[in-house]
Amino acid sequence: MSATRVYSQSQKLINLAKQYIPGGVNSPVRSFNGVGGTPVFFSHAKGAYLYDEDGNEYLDYVGSWGPMILGHQHPEVISALHTAIDKALSFGAPTKLEVDIAQKICTLMPSIEMVRMQNSGTEATMTAIRLARGYTGRNLLIKFEGCYHGHSDSLLIKAGSGALTFGQTSSAGVPEELAKHTLCLPYNDINALSEAFAKHGAEIAGVIIEPVAGNMGCVPPVPGFLQTLRDLCTQHRAVLIFDEVMTGFRVDLGGAQAYYDIQPDLTTLGKVIGGGMPVGALGGKKEIMSYLAPLGPVYQAGTLSGNPIAMTAGLTTLKQVTQPNFYQNLKTTTQALAEGLLSAAERTHTPLQVYHVPGMVSLFFSDKAIRNLDDVKASNTEKFNAFFHGMLNKGIYLPPSAYETWFVSCMHTEAEIQKTLAIVEQVFKDIG
Ligand SMILES: *Cc1c(COP(=O)(O)O)cnc(C)c1O
Repeated sequence: MSATRVYSQSQKLINLAKQYIPGGVNSPVRSFNGVGGTPVFFSHAKGAYLYDEDGNEYLDYVGSWGPMILGHQHPEVISALHTAIDKALSFGAPTKLEVDIAQKICTLMPSIEMVRMQNSGTEATMTAIRLARGYTGRNLLIKFEGCYHGHSDSLLIKAGSGALTFGQTSSAGVPEELAKHTLCLPYNDINALSEAFAKHGAEIAGVIIEPVAGNMGCVPPVPGFLQTLRDLCTQHRAVLIFDEVMTGFRVDLGGAQAYYDIQPDLTTLGKVIGGGMPVGALGGKKEIMSYLAPLGPVYQAGTLSGNPIAMTAGLTTLKQVTQPNFYQNLKTTTQALAEGLLSAAERTHTPLQVYHVPGMVSLFFSDKAIRNLDDVKASNTEKFNAFFHGMLNKGIYLPPSAYETWFVSCMHTEAEIQKTLAIVEQVFKDIG
């Protein structure tokens, strides 16, 4: 079909980068450590396509890990940014843009009555748990194995030796003492959840969850899981935090909370609301949000928070996703991709599980259903790695890890999906 691609510029750049940047990258997954090979260095992008330093073209299913729901270089976003740059880069003082975006977010996500803009998803989740603890006067946090909530100390905790034992730190440099304040439960396990609340209910400050897990591949919640969680939090007066940094304005205009019709107490946002600029946000009930400084005793701040360039990218992106049928179309495209993957697997006798919600898809080389991190780990990740490189060499840029979701943008049309599926089927045959 196509000659083997040349990656000589990327190879040269990664060698140089490794001299000056730890591992040559500014975020670990970019290193290709999971799949092997040379990370691709990109130079520009347009719509659903990426172009690397060697001049290779790729159809993009990473979308900068979620923000690029409009595809790259959307003309309205770019033109709004040009205008904004001509006015000012940063004030460190209030602007009308911040009021506009806050009002827009509160309108689109009714569980959010007040919102604080920040610079990353990590900041938003870090503040969310501090706020949950400050508001309840309790320390214990529940999180779920396989969910990722950024890299603040309190959230780099994985499961301990048993489901109901306290967690262990998942990074060097995080004090073990922090793990004693965290229970890490298996995702989609209603019994473990009920047991944890039965045993510790009065100590639980909050529960943080990805309402669709997207950081162990895409693993949607099983029926009843989120509702049970909502009920238990209400009953025990624990703060329910939906980490919608990935799912917010991606799976539905109102996020996963609208898609599943479950209202959290606090919501963290990022990715899409920044439209490609560094943005995070924390929002929720007025009663809880009023505990944040300067109104309340829970401290949080940011030199560049609410930055006018970032707010412009976010506001313009939100304006586009509120166009009629935006999410309906995204849902149709994603479903066509998911169904096509399964058909290709059937025709080539490839054991495969596929999960999807609008804008997110994952495949797992496994003949068993995937409900949690143990299931993901039991899937054939070596086969994924062969698949990844087969796809890359045919111009399809997938997340370089078996544990990451693919992202679909509104620039992925029927033609892009059909092109992808034809290549998928060929690669399934090639890797056997
Ligand atoms: C990406 C992500 C984060 C972290 O956001 P950053 O902007 O990378 O700090 C937190 N939670 C979820 C669910 C994410 O997908």
